Amino acid sequence: MRIETIAGHAGREDFGMLGVHAPPLDLSTTYPVLDAEQATASLEAMAAGGPPKGNPVYARLHNPTVARFEAALARLEGAEGAVAFGSGMAALTACLLGARQVGGHVVAVRPMYGSSDHLLASGLLGIAVTWATPATIRAAIRPDTALVFIETPANPTAALTDIEAVVAQAGPVPVLVDSTFATPVLQQPLRHGAALVLHSATKFLGGHGDVIAGVVAANGEWASKLRQVRLLTGGLLHPLAGYLLHRGLTTLPLRVERAQTSAQILASRLAEHPAVARVHYPGLPGGDPNHLVGRQMAGPGSVLAFDLANPDQADDFLAELTLVTHAVSLGSTDTLIQRPAALTHHIVPAEDREAAGIGPGLLRISVGLEHPDDLWADLVRALRHHPAITARPRAS
Ligand SMILES: *Cc1c(COP(=O)(O)O)cnc(C)c1O
Repeated sequence: MRIETIAGHAGREDFGMLGVHAPPLDLSTTYPVLDAEQATASLEAMAAGGPPKGNPVYARLHNPTVARFEAALARLEGAEGAVAFGSGMAALTACLLGARQVGGHVVAVRPMYGSSDHLLASGLLGIAVTWATPATIRAAIRPDTALVFIETPANPTAALTDIEAVVAQAGPVPVLVDSTFATPVLQQPLRHGAALVLHSATKFLGGHGDVIAGVVAANGEWASKLRQVRLLTGGLLHPLAGYLLHRGLTTLPLRVERAQTSAQILASRLAEHPAVARVHYPGLPGGDPNHLVGRQMAGPGSVLAFDLANPDQADDFLAELTLVTHAVSLGSTDTLIQRPAALTHHIVPAEDREAAGIGPGLLRISVGLEHPDDLWADLVRALRHHPAITARPRAS
């Protein structure tokens, strides 16, 4: 089946048997024990990272509504399992804690989401990090390296990294891909050899700006390990959030494709605008130097970034926008814009930010489902508003 069909039907296989048409929302924190031996056996199965054997026992161990979303996401990613968490950062923390059991070192590539960068750089979890480029991963690997971590497309520049090339360099070390910007509609990292794929489900998967969540899809052993970490550390997803995410998946392919069409239009127009120095988008000429769109990504996505010719005008420009909302986050039905150096990546030291291509005037847009001409009218009016926005020679 194609992705559109899976998105609408996965995690619903037992509806006929249940006699329902929408997913039941189970808010139970505990479950009555009808058979004591069976409940203990079920508890043991879950403590080993597996599914319950009948009785879910306690909601920190298992929730059927969340499990439906996980089953659907696993199908979309071509994974054996998926494990949902209370946020993208809780999901990343679980991956790092799972890796910690193997070794205390991670190799990571910048840029990546600011808080992910900070979690690694802080050493909070007792894990040392070596920052590498896609070309220096092999050299950065040590005997205690437990994970190679990349984000593609990267937040905020939408730069693409070749997953297969990273997997080849990582050798036996598992590769974790944060695929939040791509969604399983545009990219399925496990098919390219990654061991784990992570989503901030807060973004496109939820898709309506009303759920904070994270999810990791992986094959057998890793999925079990992550379930064990979740059970012990309690970074759960609430069942209502699981319900909303499962519902969000049904429209995910439509939303992603429509937003991508608009992003391509806006990226092309911004690239022609004299007040814009440079647009970062894999759908523009030169924006995908390794030719990954078509091979790894089904399309360039709907997040783009651009540098104003005059970076000092960035905040004034943002304040002029009326339709596009100046706010962090992305992947919602409406268009959001923000300045990473001031917000999402503010926590990353300035010199590391700049080295990763995140200048003070870089703006990131997550294009929503509005008509692209209305979005363009808002952007162009705000660009024109400031006579001080002066054209400079454009780099490609
Ligand atoms: C937002 C984001 C995260 C963190 O997710 P939360 O749900 O906010 O905890 C991780 N990675 C990427 C790429 C993100 O955009």
